[in-house]
Amino acid sequence: MSRTSFYEAVDETLSTIRAEGLWKSEREITSPQAGTVTVAGVGEVMNLCANNYLGLADNAEIMAAAHDTIERYGYGMASVRFICGTLDLHRVVEADIADYIGTDDAILFAACFDANAAVFEPLLAAEDAVISDSLNHASIIDGIRLCKAQRYRFATRDMADLESKLAEAAAAGARHTMIVTDGVFSMDGYLADLPSICEIADRFGSLVMVDDCHATGFIGPQGRGTPWFHGVQDRVDIVTSTLGKALGGAMGGFIAARQSVVDLMRQRARPYLFSNALTPALLGGAHKALEIARTGDGLRAQLEMNAARFRAGMTAAGFELSGQGHPIIPVMIGDASVATDMAERLLSEGIYVTAFSFPVVPRGTARIRTQMNAAHTSEDVDRAIEAFVAAGTELGLIEGFA
Ligand SMILES: *Cc1c(COP(=O)(O)O)cnc(C)c1O
Repeated sequence: MSRTSFYEAVDETLSTIRAEGLWKSEREITSPQAGTVTVAGVGEVMNLCANNYLGLADNAEIMAAAHDTIERYGYGMASVRFICGTLDLHRVVEADIADYIGTDDAILFAACFDANAAVFEPLLAAEDAVISDSLNHASIIDGIRLCKAQRYRFATRDMADLESKLAEAAAAGARHTMIVTDGVFSMDGYLADLPSICEIADRFGSLVMVDDCHATGFIGPQGRGTPWFHGVQDRVDIVTSTLGKALGGAMGGFIAARQSVVDLMRQRARPYLFSNALTPALLGGAHKALEIARTGDGLRAQLEMNAARFRAGMTAAGFELSGQGHPIIPVMIGDASVATDMAERLLSEGIYVTAFSFPVVPRGTARIRTQMNAAHTSEDVDRAIEAFVAAGTELGLIEGFA
C-alpha cells in the first residue's frame, strides 16, 4: 500500500488504453461551433460530428438573446435554486419546455447528465424495479445505480426481452416498475420502439421514461421529440432531455413530467438541490432556441434531406451503415485503429469526424459516427461522401470505383 504504487497503477491503465488503440485525443477548434469549423493546425473543415442538428450553435438571434439576458440579469446566480437562485426567467424557460414537451411542468438541471442522475432516486425505492435498455446512456445507468430499486436490463430494442424482464419483476413482487429508454440510441442511430414499449407498459401497469437528448428540437412534429413522433406523448410519464444538442448546443438539461413528479424533484433531487442554478445567458438563449425550434420546419426539412442524401450515397458506395430515419449515421468500421486512421484521413480531406471505440461502443464495433446538420447544403453532403469514398478505398474498406 503506497502512493507510489497508486500512481504507477494509473500510468499502467493509461499505457493499456494507448496500447489498445483506444486513446481519445481532443482536437482544438478556434472558431464557433458550426457547419464549418477551424481546427487548430488543420484549417477549415466541414463538421460532421456535432450534436448541432439544427445548426443553432452560432445562431445570431440566440446569441443576441443571451447577450440581452446578461445585460439584464448579469453573469451568474451564485446560488442553488431554492436559496436565492430562481429568476423569473427560470420559470419562463421551464414553462416553455413543459409546453413544448407536452407535460404539466418541467425542472431545469445543469445538464441532462444531472437530470438522469437525479430522476430515479426520489421516485423509486427498494420495493420497485427499473427495466432499462442495455444501450441506455451512461447517465441513465449512473442514475439507476443511485437508486435503491431492483434493476433489470433488457437487450436493446428487444421487446420480447423487455416483456420477460417485466414478468420477472412482477413475479418478484415489484410494487412499481419503470421502463427506461433512450428515445434515440446515439451510438447506433436507431429510434426506440415507443409504441410497443407503451403497449407493454400498459399491460404491466408500468411507468415509461424516455431520454430524448438526440430528438428534442428535430424529431416529430415541431421537433417535440420521439413520443410525439410515435404519437405516444400522452402515455410517456417522464421525458429527460438536454439544451446542449439541437436547442442551441450550450448547456442545461431538464425533466418534464406530471406536476407531482416535478414538485417532488424540486424537493428531493440531489443534483438540483446541491448544484448551482443555470446562468441567465443560458436561459435567454434557451428561450429563443425553443421558439426557433418550434417554428423550424425549414431547418428540419434541410436536416432530413441531408440525412437521406448521405445515407443513400454512402450505401451506394458500399459502406456498412447503422441506424435508420435519424441524422446520426454511423459508418461501421470494426477495428478501433482502422477507425482512427479513417478519421485522420478524412480530416486531411477536409471532413471532421470522430472515431468511436471501446468503452463508448462494444469492442470490435468501432465506427465513425456522422451526424448531419441543417447548416449543411446538398453540395456539402456530396463532398463528404466523396471524401469517405476516397479514404475508404485507400483503407480497403470499400472497393471503390475503378
Ligand atoms: C448527451 C446525452 C446526455 C447528456 O446530456 P448533457 O446535457 O450533455 O449532460 C444524456 N443522455 C443522452 C441520451 C445523451 O445523448
